[in-house]
Amino acid sequence: MKAVAIRKGQDRQKGPQKYHRVATVECDKCGAEFVISHQRKLKRSRSIAAEQAAELKTILTEDHRPKDKREHPDLVEFE
Ligand SMILES: [Zn+2]
Repeated sequence: MKAVAIRKGQDRQKGPQKYHRVATVECDKCGAEFVISHQRKLKRSRSIAAEQAAELKTILTEDHRPKDKREHPDLVEFE
């Protein structure tokens, strides 16, 4: 687990130690906010953070589709 996105305002998942925040993503539909964090030992990469932000946005949008509507997860892991 080198990168994670954690939903703000929930207390089941804590921000991991030794990670630094690289991006914040907001759901267009409900305004839920997620903070993407990378392991500190990784080189900071804006392009990777931007890719993950886009990936997360897709996940959030899918969560709102009537066909497979579900709660947003508290935690999303990235490769
Ligand atoms: Zn949402």
